[in-house]
Amino acid sequence: MYYHSLNEEMRRQFGKKVYKLSLSGGMTCPNRDGKCGTRGCIFCSGAGEFAESGPVREQIEKAKRRVAAKEKDGAYIAYFQSFTNTYAPVERLRPLFTDAMEPSEIVALSVATRPDCLEPGVLALLAELNQRKPVWVELGLQTIYPVTAHYIRRGYDLAVFEKAVADLKAIGVTVVVHQILGLPGETPQMMAETADYIAHSGADGVKFHLLHVLRGTDLAEEYEAGTFDVLSLAQYIDLLSDCIRRLPRRMVIHRLTGDGDKRTLIAPLWSGDKKRVLNAIRSAFMESDLQQGSLYRE
Ligand code: SF4
Repeated sequence: MYYHSLNEEMRRQFGKKVYKLSLSGGMTCPNRDGKCGTRGCIFCSGAGEFAESGPVREQIEKAKRRVAAKEKDGAYIAYFQSFTNTYAPVERLRPLFTDAMEPSEIVALSVATRPDCLEPGVLALLAELNQRKPVWVELGLQTIYPVTAHYIRRGYDLAVFEKAVADLKAIGVTVVVHQILGLPGETPQMMAETADYIAHSGADGVKFHLLHVLRGTDLAEEYEAGTFDVLSLAQYIDLLSDCIRRLPRRMVIHRLTGDGDKRTLIAPLWSGDKKRVLNAIRSAFMESDLQQGSLYRE
């Protein structure tokens, strides 16, 4: 069994396990504030559920305490997770990111954002920061299908994503793409095609997410009205395995599944036990001798 895990990649790059510190830059999102939408993506509950708040250095210390039990002499990634973390003037982003990267134990900066929020000034800032420490940018693609993108109200088309990846690769930044498995109306073939597309997109890594339904989202209303079903654990593992086989071995798998906030999780309830889910995924990978790249075609 082989897949290119983030842990393996971090040990290769930094010689030790690296922990992510989930931070908030206090920004909103153009898909919420009216610039390209007001209700957000259909599944989005907004904030990263584990992200801290307040001044960034305080957030870092608080987030470190959350993982401190795991390791003393840790290395960390400052991960701006909540909302759209380049949706602010460069004058605001510069001190925020610089401050977050400053401590010696922070080995990289990771910024989750939208492909339509990478203005030339933001790219120039990311290029500059990338000279100090590695910078990763995470983009929520989720699917390549326009019909699904419209349904989930993603708010940008594929050409925007492609330009963003090209711009980020041109400045040497690491690009991580998010794909959601189990979006309403999508067949296994459609999800496989999104994985094939990501495999050839030029991105460096992928985060896979299970579609989960959270209370307070518009998706919850659709689910309660019975318009779609969520995946079973077995279905999710089959889809995930197929997608990973389609990715080149150099691509780093940052996540095998997402973390839904247990307090607001409506479905699928099996996803609330993350440890059990990860164990089941890894056992299935072992049993089938999953090999990342076995279905990848140049
Ligand atoms: S998923 Fe991201 S882009 Fe979509 S509404 Fe939420 S914060 Fe905005």
